[in-house]
Amino acid sequence: MSQPEQHSFQAEIQQLLGIVINSLYTDREVFVRELISNAADACEKVRFLRTSGEIAGGDVEPTITLTTDTEAGTLTLTDTGIGMTREELVQNLGTIAHSGTKAFLKGLADQQKPDTRLIGQFGVGFYAAFMAAKQVDVYSRSQRDTTEGWRWTSEGGNGFVLEPAPDAAPGTRIVLALKDDAKDFAEPETLERIIKQYSNFVAFPLELNGTQLNTVQAIWARSKNEVKEEEYSQFYEFLAHDKEAPLYRLHFTADAPIAIQSLLYVPSRSMEMPGMGRQESEVQLYCRKVLIDSKSRGLLPEWLRFIRGVVDSEDLPLNVSRERMQDSSLMQKLSKALTNRFLKHLGEEAEKDPIAYDKFYTEFHRFIKEGVLSDWEHQATLGKLLRYDSSAMETGKKTSLPDYVKRMPEGQKEIYYLLAKDRASAEGSPYFEVFRERKFEVLFVEDPIDEFVMDRLREFDGKTITAAEKAALDLDNQNKEGALSDDDAAALSGWLKLTLGEAVKEVRSSKRLVESPVVMVESDKSLTASMRRTLKLMGRDMAEMTDPSPDLEINPRHPVVVKLNLLRQTDGPLASLVAEQLFDQARLASGRLEDPRAMLQRMNTLLSKVVGA
Ligand code: ADP
Ligand code: MG
Repeated sequence: MSQPEQHSFQAEIQQLLGIVINSLYTDREVFVRELISNAADACEKVRFLRTSGEIAGGDVEPTITLTTDTEAGTLTLTDTGIGMTREELVQNLGTIAHSGTKAFLKGLADQQKPDTRLIGQFGVGFYAAFMAAKQVDVYSRSQRDTTEGWRWTSEGGNGFVLEPAPDAAPGTRIVLALKDDAKDFAEPETLERIIKQYSNFVAFPLELNGTQLNTVQAIWARSKNEVKEEEYSQFYEFLAHDKEAPLYRLHFTADAPIAIQSLLYVPSRSMEMPGMGRQESEVQLYCRKVLIDSKSRGLLPEWLRFIRGVVDSEDLPLNVSRERMQDSSLMQKLSKALTNRFLKHLGEEAEKDPIAYDKFYTEFHRFIKEGVLSDWEHQATLGKLLRYDSSAMETGKKTSLPDYVKRMPEGQKEIYYLLAKDRASAEGSPYFEVFRERKFEVLFVEDPIDEFVMDRLREFDGKTITAAEKAALDLDNQNKEGALSDDDAAALSGWLKLTLGEAVKEVRSSKRLVESPVVMVESDKSLTASMRRTLKLMGRDMAEMTDPSPDLEINPRHPVVVKLNLLRQTDGPLASLVAEQLFDQARLASGRLEDPRAMLQRMNTLLSKVVGA
């Protein structure tokens, strides 16, 4: 018989062990959940292989057994799941293959105090055992290849030892020699409480010292009025590792066009943190209560990756590989049906309880917007779920596009929005003046991504969506008193074009200004200023973007403009200074002024003249 072999852990595992052993002390009972969840995964795998006929064994039900030995201070977990070969033991319990775990580690390393909630969400897996155990022995024999059994043993530290274990039964047995301060985990009462809390919904019989603890139940397959509220919330906690109640729950069944039994939840918070990368979808895919994929890609569109839950469809073939399943037409049907149903649910909830929807929106609006930008098929439905501040709403209240359309007065043909960093600057913007005068509602959007969203939507309910900066709107009745005559305005415009040169395309008299002397008007094809900035931030070359010079409009009723027309005839150099200053102000208001230094210097020159210095 071969000698015990010494192996080292991969560096990342040593790092993970350090975190697990030192900083997770308060939450350490989650190790029980992690080991049971691995055992359940192993049971799922063997059940799947049996159902699809890849290995023998018919419908033998795999089980998970826990036994405690209070005197010896040990806890033993046995499962009759898939088991591991020698290579699998080395691979699975010696390296981290999971990219999610790596990202998680990096995230933790960047944080001062790791958020234990995150740990609960991610799970640290098998290594959590070392929170409570001074030594862990894993005896395993693979069900795929039963020729050899192996023992893997480790005290945490730097590595593990492997040796043959001829007596190991098919499946896996894990023996934990508990640390002195963790002997409590050899008490049946303690374990019973922990199992009830975290593992009550495990899909296989779970025994503790010979007594079955859980009633195996697929609650998604039960009828809605049979499931108790409490069961729903416990199931969520079990599924999502999240103690906070979910925001929404959708339990539904359908027969056509495809059979579906599903239970979907929206967590109370988005788990996608800056710097932690993209979250993975974690909706589990079942076929007749047999787990096919615990993180089913393609089941829901990417932008719904915040949903947690279970989808069971008896129409799915069991003997198809996961990869082929992903792009099958069945999956597409399933995805479409689920997405439509979920969006309908969101719409209904938004109607029923706007306050709750507000909470949802605050947490998940980015995903909805990502959907608008990336998913043409659901764009129109998603448009109804958007919410924005608006000139017609009091501060803090948002409106939907359907409500906006309902309020549109006769004569208003388009939906308008204005990007500004907050409400005060939106209301003070020269672009808002014509809307205030004509009492047309304007959506106030703060996030540059919203411009792309609006641009992509293009229209809603048959109404074009237009940026306020580009709106071709005139004031109705203008007070002509004291204003420049049309001829004077045209002459001043010509002079301004000469003075400002190539920076402007055209200068003309404005019919939209009330309080501002000038405003910049973007041509219809050009990007708005903030879109340009965003694209620049994204590293896009400005030269390749169409960026025609804007037009400048002057307010023929504004005293500065009226006086400027006289000034240019009496003091050309001063008039030029004023013209350039006005132009820069217009650029500032439109977001096109990137370097204000020249403007400030000119301002000083002008001030010196005013005070007579
Ligand atoms: P994860 O469960 O996220 O993959 P873990 O650290 O919990 O990560 O487990 C690592 C791997 O070890 C599992 O993916 C699985 O392949 C293997 N493993 C752990 N426990 C068992 C078990 N009881 N039976 C079979 N394989 C197991
Ligand atoms: Mg695991």
